[in-house]
Amino acid sequence: MSKEDIIYDVIVVGAGIEGSSTAYQLAKRGQSTLLLEQFLLPHSRGSSHGQTRINRRAYLQATYSAMMKQNAEEWNILEKECGEKLYNNCGTLVVSRPSMLEGVETRLNANKAPYRALTGPEMKSEFPNVTLPDDYVGIYDYQGGILFADKSLRAFQEQFKKYGGTLRDGEQVHDVIPGDIVILKTTTGNQFRGRNVVLALGPYTNNLLAKTGLQLPLQVVRIPIFYWKEKVAGMYSPDKFPCFIDETASEGESIYGLPSLEYPGLVKICLHAGPVVDPHKREDVDSTWVRERMMKYIAKTFPWLNPVPAIEETCIYTNSPDKHLFLDRHPKYENIIIAAGFSGHGFKLAPIVGKILSDLVQAKTPAFDMDWFKISRFDKGGENLSSKL
Ligand SMILES: Cc1cc2nc3c(=O)[nH]c(=O)nc-3n(C[C@H](O)[C@H](O)[C@H](O)COP(=O)(O)OP(=O)(O)OC[C@H]3O[C@@H](n4cnc5c(N)ncnc54)[C@H](O)[C@@H]3O)c2cc1C
Repeated sequence: MSKEDIIYDVIVVGAGIEGSSTAYQLAKRGQSTLLLEQFLLPHSRGSSHGQTRINRRAYLQATYSAMMKQNAEEWNILEKECGEKLYNNCGTLVVSRPSMLEGVETRLNANKAPYRALTGPEMKSEFPNVTLPDDYVGIYDYQGGILFADKSLRAFQEQFKKYGGTLRDGEQVHDVIPGDIVILKTTTGNQFRGRNVVLALGPYTNNLLAKTGLQLPLQVVRIPIFYWKEKVAGMYSPDKFPCFIDETASEGESIYGLPSLEYPGLVKICLHAGPVVDPHKREDVDSTWVRERMMKYIAKTFPWLNPVPAIEETCIYTNSPDKHLFLDRHPKYENIIIAAGFSGHGFKLAPIVGKILSDLVQAKTPAFDMDWFKISRFDKGGENLSSKL
């Protein structure tokens, strides 16, 4: 049979972490699944590359908080299946003013997640390598830590293939012809047919959605990733410094950091914001203001780091207006399912996102309240549910 004759149960477009996790889950459930990626793998032109991401259970929103237990179990399953360490459980410390963290504590309690609340003086004595404002408190999330991003992405893709899935890179889908059998055309001249399609396109979402008459309210931003050199080697190693999120760090934006691990002696600390950019021209934008803001923050908050970045890399966020995800069917074509708007916090969620999207493909009801992830939440006149998340 030629590839033109095959009708897949599902075609997933986009082999970032969300598409790869979804394809893995579908193949594991016995669905004949094709995963298409526009670039040759591995690549750094999406949002899922790099060595590390923060994991945490400490979420303010009830919906995410409820997902995190099962999500953690799924990460463990993947780790066992691939036989490689994907996670360093060094903990995650979330800091802010008390009013910002009350809700997080409520959610952690509701979901019986292990954590410890820290007063300002307790933080000072336990983490003398960080200087925080006097009115700050903290939550130490015991199950938080570092996900090894490149390894996790590879693990999903390798396990997907082991479960019988087909992965084709270098296949940019440029047209979508909806129908009971959806036809996808790629720039190499191939076309592929599937009963269901999942689009997990990261920053390129609206380019392809335009072919289906849909545009989502997404904003693509360039995030500079900074690595800062320890003045004394080992001051911020994972045994002395966990993953770190300052929720109220800089003019309303949070700042997050990971201990020195991926590059010896260098600590990754970044602003959770950046300039708007076209993902095809990500170099054509000035992000000097981010660098300057970060240098001031590092000088003030991390006395044992050199406040001039040693390395600067880039990554891309695809933000929705409320910074929450879209996990939904296409409003016109119910066998086209969309995953978008991960807004800089989607990596850790990939296993549960894969399960939810697979449920939608298989017409099963996901175990979580899907109202929060609906495309229609921003419809004119519609109620924006995000404030109740
Ligand atoms: C600097 C940075 C730090 C982050 N830190 C964290 C963190 O600590 N914790 C956390 O949970 N999350 C974090 N995130 C967010 C997380 O990494 C993203 O939410 C996640 O990687 C998004 O994955 P994705 O699969 O949606 O997108 P992508 O990784 O961009 O994948 C989309 C894929 O689709 C492909 N594609 C697009 N269009 C087509 C087409 N037409 N045909 C074929 N293929 C196509 C693209 O090439 C790409 O490979 C961070 C992100 C960045 C940038």
